[in-house]
Amino acid sequence: MSELKPVGFVTSELKERGMRGRTKASIEIKEEYADGLRGLEECSHVIVVAFLDRSARILTVDLPFHRGGVFAVRSPDRPKRIGITVSRVDGIEGRRILLEGLDFLDGTPVIDIKPYTMSDCVPGYKNSIEERALLLRGDIEALLALAASFHGELCTGIAVGVRIVYEALKIRGTMRFDSVTAPGGCAVDAFQVLCGCTLGNGRLKLRDEDRYTVSGIEMRLTRQPESIEDALRGDLLSVGP
Ligand SMILES: [Zn+2]
Repeated sequence: MSELKPVGFVTSELKERGMRGRTKASIEIKEEYADGLRGLEECSHVIVVAFLDRSARILTVDLPFHRGGVFAVRSPDRPKRIGITVSRVDGIEGRRILLEGLDFLDGTPVIDIKPYTMSDCVPGYKNSIEERALLLRGDIEALLALAASFHGELCTGIAVGVRIVYEALKIRGTMRFDSVTAPGGCAVDAFQVLCGCTLGNGRLKLRDEDRYTVSGIEMRLTRQPESIEDALRGDLLSVGP
């Protein structure tokens, strides 16, 4: 195989190993690859492929919240140290791509950039390792980010839907449910994108009642949430008939 040379480098506030998160960042493309940027402004998201130069070479991950062979988890530590991340394109300035939601460290060599396409989006995909990790880390925010991007806005309604999915995940240990019934509103988009229960496949049914049923688990709101944070963590759900 020919040697892989970077097409550019990451600039980010994540300066060293151990710093995590998805932040605003940019990639400066080398002069010789600048023509490759043509048309990128027409793509809302890209898949960034990078060489994780500060990662270790390992075959299994044995963290309490992330456990499995490297081919089953997205740990940056892996035999070939190649990372991929989907990020939103905020703009192009000269040879610099401005991105939202990049989790690569500052200075990371970028090997390739590809547009995010329809075939990358699989509603109702299944990954139990990820579901366990979400539960153990209490990472309800990750569900909210996905649901809000599908819904098109971050609002208390979608946060209520996420909270209901998360509650049912705690009880059942999975987010893939046979059926959901719900009153209408923003919350239903969370069931569609997170659980694969859609109006189209008939596993999501709307009813004119202030009650949610997720694979037989009954939930209702005890009050209206005051904020997104309140919807995610407040005591607004009662579980049971
Ligand atoms: Zn909404």
